[in-house]
Order: sequence, then structure tokens, then C-alpha cells
Amino acid sequence: MRLRFTALIAVLLVGTVLPSAQTRRTLDIYVVDVEGGNATLFVTPAGESVLIDAGNGGAAAARDAERILEATKDAGLTQIDHHITTHWHGDHFGALEELAQRIPIRAYYDHGPTIQPQPASTEFLDKVYPALVAKAKRTIVKPGDRIALKGLEWRIVTSGGQVVQSPLPGAGARNPYCAANTLQDPDPSENAQSVGSHVTFGKFRVVHPGDLTWNKEVELMCPSNRLGTTDLLIVGHHGQAVSNSEVMVHALRPRVSIINNGTRKGGQPSAMKILLNSPGLEDVWQSHFSLLSGQEYTVPGMFIGNLFDEQPEAVPVAAWTAPPQGQQAPPPPAHNGKSYWFKVSAQEDGTFTVTNARNSLTKTYRAPAN
Ligand SMILES: [Zn+2]
Repeated sequence: MRLRFTALIAVLLVGTVLPSAQTRRTLDIYVVDVEGGNATLFVTPAGESVLIDAGNGGAAAARDAERILEATKDAGLTQIDHHITTHWHGDHFGALEELAQRIPIRAYYDHGPTIQPQPASTEFLDKVYPALVAKAKRTIVKPGDRIALKGLEWRIVTSGGQVVQSPLPGAGARNPYCAANTLQDPDPSENAQSVGSHVTFGKFRVVHPGDLTWNKEVELMCPSNRLGTTDLLIVGHHGQAVSNSEVMVHALRPRVSIINNGTRKGGQPSAMKILLNSPGLEDVWQSHFSLLSGQEYTVPGMFIGNLFDEQPEAVPVAAWTAPPQGQQAPPPPAHNGKSYWFKVSAQEDGTFTVTNARNSLTKTYRAPAN
């Protein structure tokens, strides 16, 4: 009797301590607002976690680390199993050291050394990163690699300027958008080195290209579409116009796109036109209202995660044009207060919901009937 009672208590305790790991059946994705940087947290039904990027550094590092930590707490995580740094720009690796001081990170993935050394990335790669990976595991990934996770397939499709050469299962059809494509100037920056991921959970698919730029998208998607179509696109490069070609966005045919933009970063009219004109699109959700979109090129407010700390009386209809380089721009609106994530919960049959934490709007995108 006593033994059975102890066993019952143990069951109750486990149930209390690990409710999410015991009962979770969805793939949950938190698109954390890091002000035009990236931090996207995936939590699998088995309770395993993958964080893609860790937000901004410098004075913003503690803020962004805390915002990511809040998502890990909401998901009931006590560690981050896998951390991918898409590339060595400060809006992607900036808060990683701060984050690692707050929660254990067990394995790191990246594309290798930077091709665009900058003081902050050199300092980080010489001094900070070696100390972090010494306590964990580091893997330099290449296209075609996988991250081992229970119950879903995680494929690396771009890394270090290389793109996956063979089509994913079910993909590989000729891409009709290639013919009309015009290449942009070559991108010698870290953006083109981005580690891009493709994730399949049952019938649900999500693509996360990091900050991959236009010409690399074309390499990946032409002449044949090696990725196929997707349910969810975490929009590349914060919704900027040097990424997000038709050959990428329109060929992927996302049902839903989520942009990790800032108030003055991403959401330019040309990119928004491509995103909003995408065939089969149901909704675009934006982390921030972007002045670069104005009301003309933005989505309805209920699909926007964050506005401004000090909300202006009216937001402009016209897209704001940033002053030319070298000229003084007005300081960006501050947003250091409460921030709101988008949470996506996907089921194996392909049905998924998106929730805007600011206004609690939840929308369900049902799996097609067959
Ligand atoms: Zn970026």
C-alpha cells in the first residue's frame, strides 16, 4: 500500500513538474520579438528544443536574452538542446552569451568562420564562442545535414554560401518563377552565408532561411524548386527587399508568412508586394508595425505583434523613406518595454494556429481535406 502510494505521488510529481513534455502533441514555434533581429524557438512534441539565433548584442543583449528566456519558460524548458546561429551578424548572435548565462545550451551549429569580420563578431568568435562551445558541442553544418530530433525532420538546406543540391522528398519540379527573375548585385556579406532550415512535422512544413539574400535564393530555387511548398515561412532577412524574391516566396507558396521585422527594418514596399501577392497566401503576420511599410503596405493591425512604446496619434499611410546614407536620420522609436511573440502550434495533420501574444488573436489554418 505504502509503495503504491509512493508511486502515485511520484506520478503526480512528474505530472506537475513536466506537464508540457508529458502532454505536448504539437510542434510549437515562438517568433520572439528582438526588434528586427532574429530569435525563433522551436519546441517539439517530445519536448526537445531548437533556437535559431539569439537577438541583438551590446546594450540590447540583456533585453533580448530575457525575451527569449520568457519564451523558454512559457514552453516549460529547462535547457536549449540545439542552438543554430544562422550567420555572424550582431542581430543574430548578439545576445547569445547573455542567454547562455541564463539557461544551459547543449549543442551549437553554425556555418563556420565569418567571411565578413567586424569588431563585434571577431571579438565574439575569438573569445566568447570558444568558451560557450567548450561546455557543449559545436557542429559546422553543410547543406543536406540533419539535426536529430524525435518525431520530425530537420534539414539544413543552405550554409556557408552553399545550397542543397538534391530536391527534398516530393520537391524538385521546375520553378516557373525563374524565367522572369533578375539577379541583384552579388552579396559579399555574411547574409549570403546563412544557415537555412527546412522542418517537416507530419504534413506540416516550415522554412526558415535566416538572412539569405536574393541571389542565393535563386541558386537554391532555380531551375528546379528543391524545397517544394510550405505551410509556414519565417520570412527571410526581416522582410527586407534584398531578399524575398518571387522565385523563393512565390514558389514556396506559404499559407502563412511571419516577418521578424523592426519599426525601421524590413517591410519595404517591394518586399511587401511580393509577400502579400504570394499565391495561396492566407496571412502575413509582422513582429512590428514598420514605418518602411506605412499603412499602404502593411497588414491589418491585429496581425502585428508590436507597435511602439509611445504610440503616435496617427501612423502614416505612405511608406517612410529612410534618409540617404550619411544623413542624419531621426532616432528610431524606442521599444524596450513589454514585447510580444507570435506562437505557432502545429499538428501532425498539417493544421496550425498562430497566436498574437499582444491581442490574443488566434487563427487556425486547417489542413486541406486530403
Ligand atoms: Zn539580420
